[in-house]
Amino acid sequence: MSKYIFVTGGVTSSLGKGIIAASLAKLLQARGLSVTIQKLDPYINVDPGTLNPYEHGECFVTEDGAETDLDLGHYERFLNIHTSQANNVTTGRIYQTVINKEREGAYLGKTVQVIPHITDEIKRRMLLLGEEGKYDIVITEIGGTVGDIESLPFIEAVRQLQWEMPDEDCLVVHLTLIPYLKAAKELKTKPTQHSVKLMSENGVHPDIIVCRTERPLTTDLRKKIAQFCNVKLDSVIEAMDASTIYEVPLKMLQEGLDITVLKKLHINGYAAPELTKWKAFLDKLKYPSGKVTIGLIGKYIELQDAYKSILESFVHAGAMNECKVQIVNVHSEFIDKTNVAEKLSGLDGLLVAPGFGYRGVDGKIIAVQHARENKLPFFGICLGMQMAAIEFARNVLNLEGAHSTEMQPDTKYPVIDLMEDQKKVTAKGGTMRLGAYPCAIKEDSLAYKIYGQSPISERHRHRWEFNNAYLEKYEAAGMMASGKNPATGLVEIIELKDHPFFIGVQYHPELKSTVENPQPIFVNFIKAAKEFAESKNAIKSTALQSEAI
Ligand code: GLN
Repeated sequence: MSKYIFVTGGVTSSLGKGIIAASLAKLLQARGLSVTIQKLDPYINVDPGTLNPYEHGECFVTEDGAETDLDLGHYERFLNIHTSQANNVTTGRIYQTVINKEREGAYLGKTVQVIPHITDEIKRRMLLLGEEGKYDIVITEIGGTVGDIESLPFIEAVRQLQWEMPDEDCLVVHLTLIPYLKAAKELKTKPTQHSVKLMSENGVHPDIIVCRTERPLTTDLRKKIAQFCNVKLDSVIEAMDASTIYEVPLKMLQEGLDITVLKKLHINGYAAPELTKWKAFLDKLKYPSGKVTIGLIGKYIELQDAYKSILESFVHAGAMNECKVQIVNVHSEFIDKTNVAEKLSGLDGLLVAPGFGYRGVDGKIIAVQHARENKLPFFGICLGMQMAAIEFARNVLNLEGAHSTEMQPDTKYPVIDLMEDQKKVTAKGGTMRLGAYPCAIKEDSLAYKIYGQSPISERHRHRWEFNNAYLEKYEAAGMMASGKNPATGLVEIIELKDHPFFIGVQYHPELKSTVENPQPIFVNFIKAAKEFAESKNAIKSTALQSEAI
């Protein structure tokens, strides 16, 4: 039998509920329990796949091809497990299920209502992962903030489950903010009191209150929160701002969050937390011995959440290389031939990001050319790989105006073209090539050096592909297709022979990087960037020496 923990948020959004949920899960896992996490989102999109990254950040794709909330990325990176379609449910999906059932006649004769039909479906989803019998604990993060109209059915479902289950099988952790008022020089507990009161009005009483704060909570303040929010003192947990999200599990350990949870759930005989690997990673992350500067070329750079998994993959790969990875965001819309050298100066590596649509692609193509010609380590992901193929076609194969039919449907040289099985697809939601596919890697290649095995499996999210009609021309000119889908021959990896590190992948390797298993292309890309930086420094110091002479 699984036990259930619900994580809700109050006062304001962006308090880091996903990180707190993932940290708690990490600690419970480190104590030997099997844990999974799911996210319930109150918006009406059936999944976040149709949302603009500016709206909701990156769309995280699971092994089974679900387009999900970016918090699932945190869950996978922290826990080193795979999540699935079942781990992310939205109001849209709940309603879709209920409405489909209504059409099938499942509720014949009945008025279909929010309570009980919608709440029953929410409850079914909340319990689903637990019914697999694999998990001791299922953590459910409820998206949004308590008090939002759209969160109400979810809070009501939690209330019903809390009532239905024995006390020791169900727990509510509420994350709130304790703001610091500079003028009064005081931390304020009132918003937390109000948020807990709001929960209570909806019938849910939080068992544990996690307080996000800039400053330490004094004992008096903790007592005040405990008394006014009607919880015991050890159920008030301080969550101070951390220098990295990967420190949060250790902060929660210090605060005893896991022990309080285990006590409340009547779980005895748990092990001491096994966090050796985690701590070793954190040590390397906090005390790097070198630094590299990587340019991230994208068009969503105003919102860092749009490239969340890429940024976190760099954190993992940097720690693995014991070096700090400094990211310089370069907006692709503002790169042109006249300023590219200046905009990309000082970089030790260049990553061209995934994306959709024509906006910003010219800048990406110019940036790739700069990396290719200057032997700057290059890594292209999905659209980034497609841009590398276009750049090579135009500037090396002399196919003037070569393009992707996504941006220019009537291009004379469609080196990137719509996948055959996408040609009849009109609906947008969940219809891309999604999820994990195998890729066979040629042995004599950079990709093989990186992965050390074949086939590999990586996750996808795209509609366009490399047009194999041009492959012979590419290979004759030095760009090889080092990875292909074994069943379809679809090109998954391209690389340049005559370059120290130039690789483009049609898939999204960033989706599989975790603290314990950093993604190998990222690790090797940072290694190549380190070597590039060292050779730059060597050239500089020789120049200085000769000046001195
Ligand atoms: N827009 C491109 C395609 O659909 C690339 C997608 C991506 O970068 N994820 O093929």
